[in-house]
Amino acid sequence: MFSFSERLKKLPPYLFVELDRLKAEAKARGVDVIDLGVGDPDLPTPAHIVKAAEEAVRKPENHHYPSSVGMLAFREAAAHWFEKRFGVKLNPETEVVTLIGSKEGIAHFPLAFVNPGDVVLVPTPAYPVYHIGTLFAGGETFYLPLRPENDFLPDLESIPKDVLSRAKIIWLNYPNNPTAAVATKDFFARVVSFARENKLIVAHDAAYTELYFDDYRPPSILEVEGAREVAIEFHSLSKTYCMTGWRIGFAVGNETLIAGLAKVKNNVDSGAFQAVQEAGIAALSGDQSCVEEFRKIFRERRDVVVEGLKSLGFELDPPRATFYVWARVPEGYSSAAFAAKLLQEAGIVVTPGHGFGEPGEGFFRVALTVDKNRLKEALARIAALKF
Ligand SMILES: *Cc1c(COP(=O)(O)O)cnc(C)c1O
Repeated sequence: MFSFSERLKKLPPYLFVELDRLKAEAKARGVDVIDLGVGDPDLPTPAHIVKAAEEAVRKPENHHYPSSVGMLAFREAAAHWFEKRFGVKLNPETEVVTLIGSKEGIAHFPLAFVNPGDVVLVPTPAYPVYHIGTLFAGGETFYLPLRPENDFLPDLESIPKDVLSRAKIIWLNYPNNPTAAVATKDFFARVVSFARENKLIVAHDAAYTELYFDDYRPPSILEVEGAREVAIEFHSLSKTYCMTGWRIGFAVGNETLIAGLAKVKNNVDSGAFQAVQEAGIAALSGDQSCVEEFRKIFRERRDVVVEGLKSLGFELDPPRATFYVWARVPEGYSSAAFAAKLLQEAGIVVTPGHGFGEPGEGFFRVALTVDKNRLKEALARIAALKF
């Protein structure tokens, strides 16, 4: 009797149907499946953050509708954290908005600035929400392939003039999911000047800036001169503080861009539960040694996987940030065939690269979201396979 809207019908097909079926089948056979597919940290939220939430839940003043832009105290904590981390001062009243997880903001943002027929420049392979938000706003996605020969950065020069003249937003995501690539401040500066020349909004998804390794520190695009005129940046507490289930993040940047997003939020949701925002304040303003500890854990896991895969002859660049390893499948395999083989013959789930977009074909993604010993077990199982 009812049929889905055209926008739902246009959603990209779910590419992991077959993999999910194989996973369920393996589990039903009693296989001890090692799931390296999900981008959700296995570690619990630090105790001091949970405690702040427990106390905040009990306060009657938190039991009412919050402000849709977020508590000023949360936005101040975010601005303070941002200045300490990136050296950029923000006005918490006009340049910060609280989000119900950064995905919420990323999905809603195009509704504020994209008209039907406008083009949005979206990297591929990528997190699917940039395209889906565009689709929901009635925009057209023009894909910018991220290729290894360009260090997984988009080639701005390759965008046709007629596309560029209709383009409203360019999406970026560094440190990158799924490729684990990073971008320099120089690259961000090039994008900012390109955006200013072409009257484009730069929307940067910065979900992984705190999951860095060794002496590398991912920059914010707002560190670049002139970025405040064209850029909005999406931050998340999900990966940094192992808080994926809490749904808390924030966007920072250009006042008009923040105001547009706030206007959408004001008319769609009524903001994040204040107790969750109080937990967020505890996370952003509290002792950061928990983040240091998470980085240490992910670095050890990265080393196990990078060294293990390399010793088995896999081709990959060791990631400098994120909790993913992006590696080439062995010769003679497609991403799908390789992922199916790992699952059927070794009980290991990895994400086939083409699932994030066609240029991801030939790669697979390993999420470092199980402990070191399970990763070692996974590598031992892979070592026993023949390719
Ligand atoms: C995990 C992730 C997010 C969003 O996380 P939230 O939990 O919604 O804050 C955004 N972008 C990328 C690339 C991610 O991997």
